[in-house]
Amino acid sequence: MKYILSLDQGTTSSRAIIFDKNGHAVSSAQKELAQYYPKAGWVEHDAVEIWASQIGVAKEAMQKAGIEAGDIASIGIANQRETTVVWDKNTGRPVCNAIVWQCKRTAGKCSGLIDKGYGEMFQNKTGLRIDAYFSATKLAWVLENRTGVRSMAEKGEVLFGTVETWLIWNLTGGRIHVTDYSNASRTMLFNIHTLDWDDDILKLLNIPRAMLPQVKPSSVIYGYSVPSCFGGKIAVSGCAGDQQAALFGQRCYNAGDVKNTYGTGAFLLMNTGNQPVKSEHGLLTTIAWGIDEKITYALEGSVFIAGAAVQWLRDEMGLVKDASETEAAALSVENTNGVYFVPAFVGLGAPYWNPNARGTITGLTRGSNRSHIIRAALESICYQTAEVMSIMADNSSFDIKDIRVDGGASGNNFIMQFQADILNRRIIRPEFIETTALGAAFLAGLAVGFWQNADELCSLEYGSDEFMPDMEEGVRNKLLQGWLNAVKQTINN
Ligand code: ADP
Repeated sequence: MKYILSLDQGTTSSRAIIFDKNGHAVSSAQKELAQYYPKAGWVEHDAVEIWASQIGVAKEAMQKAGIEAGDIASIGIANQRETTVVWDKNTGRPVCNAIVWQCKRTAGKCSGLIDKGYGEMFQNKTGLRIDAYFSATKLAWVLENRTGVRSMAEKGEVLFGTVETWLIWNLTGGRIHVTDYSNASRTMLFNIHTLDWDDDILKLLNIPRAMLPQVKPSSVIYGYSVPSCFGGKIAVSGCAGDQQAALFGQRCYNAGDVKNTYGTGAFLLMNTGNQPVKSEHGLLTTIAWGIDEKITYALEGSVFIAGAAVQWLRDEMGLVKDASETEAAALSVENTNGVYFVPAFVGLGAPYWNPNARGTITGLTRGSNRSHIIRAALESICYQTAEVMSIMADNSSFDIKDIRVDGGASGNNFIMQFQADILNRRIIRPEFIETTALGAAFLAGLAVGFWQNADELCSLEYGSDEFMPDMEEGVRNKLLQGWLNAVKQTINN
């Protein structure tokens, strides 16, 4: 068997990529996913569409490569995290739309828990800050708002799962109800120290244990796809949440290894080895993956607005027609001429945690032009990353040497060079940017002996670009100080 089929079920689309033994993609297919916004702040997906689109692109990718089930050693899954699916075990029908990670419908419930002083308990047990982002309160919402669901859930007739659980359940014809450690750690129901669903939290949120999936390693055979999916049966043998899968695909296997994904927002993850590092200043402690019952932990920090600042320049300001034009514009000037752009469109995240702050452009003069503003927007992505990275470095004892990057905005060479300069660290950008799907393939392949171990994965050859820091310390410090001043003005607005 010559291939691994990787399913990458993301927020905006379902994708499938087939990898060969060298870890290279031989074919892929993708389909957009409908987004539903039934009320302000609510975001939903149709779970049936998630499954249908995912199986559809998988078959398409197989057709394109001209391969059959018998050619595939196993299936790996990377998935949008935290999104909550609840379905009837007997009919296989979801009881309502999937509640997407972005959905804020339970923000009030979360504030209530924080006001009652539960923050510390949740952080100690789950590594997370209480937030509507995670699955726990979404699941509680379904149990409270869909009649009849609770009593069926208590009997285990209604099941809960995040997206990988839902996909595996469908792939295996409704036989296997499992999740992996990385996804479980994003539910806010899972104790990352005892490695079990936490009874105190289940009781507090009134969630029946009977509806929860069994938690398994991220690389192990969960079950086999039924023939109705792909003709013959295929082992399903790896899964991880998308950010953790990217960390694995970037081969960040040693404590202290860091990757940053530059998409709409930016997600930084650092492998912290087999010990959880208690997070400070709003970072999260999470499980990167569990292999052979050995858990690898991670610290995670996010920047809300990264590539989205570029979208804003394009869609709202009309300064560029395409995101890629920003690179030449930024390079057409020597610096921003004192302009700073703080894209606090949805408030400020770590380390400020100010939800009321709003975007600001400072330092404008009559000489400020389009290129200065574009450059300031790109630089803001790097400054924000630098601030999260600095908390991460302080929060852990690891010496961060270089940063591996991926995501749409990592294609911008100006951003990458400025990032290297501002961090004073080397940036490594792989040529093959689909690290999320690759990570899921690696996890799946390890479980079935397609690849033997991490050393073999590290020996697979991929081209990459490197960006070396090339900025004098005095210049760097001055720029960073200017950024901090601009943030101060943003907060004081
Ligand atoms: P997501 O997975 O969050 O949808 P992607 O990884 O697909 O994000 O990246 C898309 C984001 O990257 C968009 O916000 C876009 O504005 C930004 N982007 C894409 N190409 C460039 C570029 N060349 N320069 C700057 N930003 C870019």
